[in-house]
Amino acid sequence: MRSFEKKVSTKQRATKRTALAGALVAAMMMSPGFVVGTPALAQKAEQQDNNTLTYGKLLQKIENGEVVRVDLDESEKVADVYLKGQEPNAQPQRVKLLDQNPELINTLKANKNVQFDEVSSANSKAAVGLLINLMWILPLVALMLLFLRRSTNASSQAMNFGKSRARFQMEAKTGIKFDDVAGIEEAKEELQEVVTFLKQPEKFTAVGARIPKGVLLVGPPGTGKTLLAKAIAGEAGVPFFSISGSEFVEMFVGVGASRVRDLFKKAKDNAPCLIFIDEIDAVGRQRGAGIGGGNDEREQTLNQLLTEMDGFEGNTGIIIIAATNRPDVLDAALLRPGRFDRQVIVDAPDRKGRLEILKVHARNKKVDPAVSLEVVARRTPGFTGADLANLLNEAAILTARRRKDFITQIEIDDAIDRLTIGLTLNPLLDSNKKRLIAYHEIGHALLATLLPHADPLNKVTIIPRSGGVGGFSQQILNEEMIDSGLYTRAWIQDNITMTLGGKASEAEVFGESEVTGGASNDLKMVANLARKMVTMYGMSDLGLVALETQNSDVFLGRDWVSRNEYSEEMATKIDRQVREMAISCYQEARKIIRENRALVDRLVDLLVEQETIEGEQFRKIVAEYTQLPEKQQLVVSGG
Ligand code: ADP
Ligand code: MG
Ligand code: ZN
Repeated sequence: MRSFEKKVSTKQRATKRTALAGALVAAMMMSPGFVVGTPALAQKAEQQDNNTLTYGKLLQKIENGEVVRVDLDESEKVADVYLKGQEPNAQPQRVKLLDQNPELINTLKANKNVQFDEVSSANSKAAVGLLINLMWILPLVALMLLFLRRSTNASSQAMNFGKSRARFQMEAKTGIKFDDVAGIEEAKEELQEVVTFLKQPEKFTAVGARIPKGVLLVGPPGTGKTLLAKAIAGEAGVPFFSISGSEFVEMFVGVGASRVRDLFKKAKDNAPCLIFIDEIDAVGRQRGAGIGGGNDEREQTLNQLLTEMDGFEGNTGIIIIAATNRPDVLDAALLRPGRFDRQVIVDAPDRKGRLEILKVHARNKKVDPAVSLEVVARRTPGFTGADLANLLNEAAILTARRRKDFITQIEIDDAIDRLTIGLTLNPLLDSNKKRLIAYHEIGHALLATLLPHADPLNKVTIIPRSGGVGGFSQQILNEEMIDSGLYTRAWIQDNITMTLGGKASEAEVFGESEVTGGASNDLKMVANLARKMVTMYGMSDLGLVALETQNSDVFLGRDWVSRNEYSEEMATKIDRQVREMAISCYQEARKIIRENRALVDRLVDLLVEQETIEGEQFRKIVAEYTQLPEKQQLVVSGG
């Protein structure tokens, strides 16, 4: 039983705890294990001891009735013993316990005259708590160290980023000439002068003129802004530096600004040259705008850009061309004289422009001489330069796939449908579904032919297309009206009726309960048209009020709360007007279908058999049954 007789004094315990804390801290640094006290310390304690009992002696003393009270502390594995005849304020004797102490408990229970109690030492609990906490902290500290190292790496990377890995491109020769840009003659003319600024600045400086530094190209995507800028550099024979506005905006504050500095430094070394900044709205937005205040990084970048533009004199031979489709959100400081004070509009081309662009892109393709680019231009209102380039490329791909030597009108038409509607899929087998789709499409096609102001039918087909299109009926586009934007009330109304023709035909033939969801797109279009008629063109009983402006974009960079320019009451009135218009058009559509039911059935049979009916054939059949409106007769005779 010698091993039990390790005695530790209270005083020693205190020292031991300090040692414990020290050991813990040390252990934390070295390894998860730690040492509780050392044998040497315990030895020393035994020597100094004069106030302790052993476990065995305690049991004996209890049996002998020398003990008054025992306080057991399970967590510390010690017992404080109060002996008989001890001075009232004297310290109790401390006894080291074993892991399990059944004898002691039994002895205590047997000797009823000894009080005993379980006490827990708050101190020891705190120590244990500390220990557990430290065990958590250890991995946390390690993690923190890891992150710290990472972020220092990242920020040092960021510093290098702005300097060495600038994101701009430089082309010594763009190889693009004004000839390659078509359909935007006005813009080209205005920019012709810029070429002279770059080529012969003396011409202007000799008479004391200050050469402009910045030109802003404004226009929708794909209209040829980048191409135009490259053409200027190509014509002037100067290097072309380009960067996109979005490249300036980085996560780390200051990177964008340093990129701007870099770009201008490089440009100055290569002057005369042209700097092209695409999507300048990404950096050039109104400062301090947007939700939740400004954006430090963007503002710093913009400030740097402004500083650089002020920094070089107009005669250093650097011209900056920036492009955007959102001039309205640009910071006023950018548009000030001496910066981007010249604005050139690059708009989507009109029919003549489309023809010119088609000619440019047909130059390097084998196109059948029978193809009329004129007709293609007519059929593609709203197409931008990029769309037209893509169209001819699609046609060329189709030609190669069909193993033909020349692109013919068929490939071009197919490419147009493919771009505007979707890829063709395999036709459906003869089924109820096919007939239902045929009735729907014939509904549209017949109304397009019978309504006096609707545009004539080009073709109707039930060959499905990708994107869930079961078929479609296509009108010859009224490019005059689309190009000018001058829609007449009668035209809009007949278009609404025609658009509702699909649903009307389904309802007449199969009953209202059988109408499918296939008309949901039609309904959206109707709502759109009717709403425009009421709110934008003032073509309703509500009278001459333009209630909505054309531009209904949200997030303009200026105002993020979209405001209606009319009251609740007016909104209700508008809704009622829109609904009334749609209902009366729908009734008109059903009436026409009902009155021509035999014709409808015949056309459906033909469509199910042929899968596509061309406008010409369609009109001939319709003419057998009823008088065609004037507009349609022109199409028949005119071809
Ligand atoms: P943007 O910069 O306005 O978005 P791009 O200049 O990048 O448009 O045009 C993309 C491509 O479309 C050009 O490379 C070119 O092939 C074709 N393209 C666009 N506009 C024209 C145009 N006016 N004339 C000829 N090609 C054009
Ligand atoms: Mg571009
Ligand atoms: Zn439809």
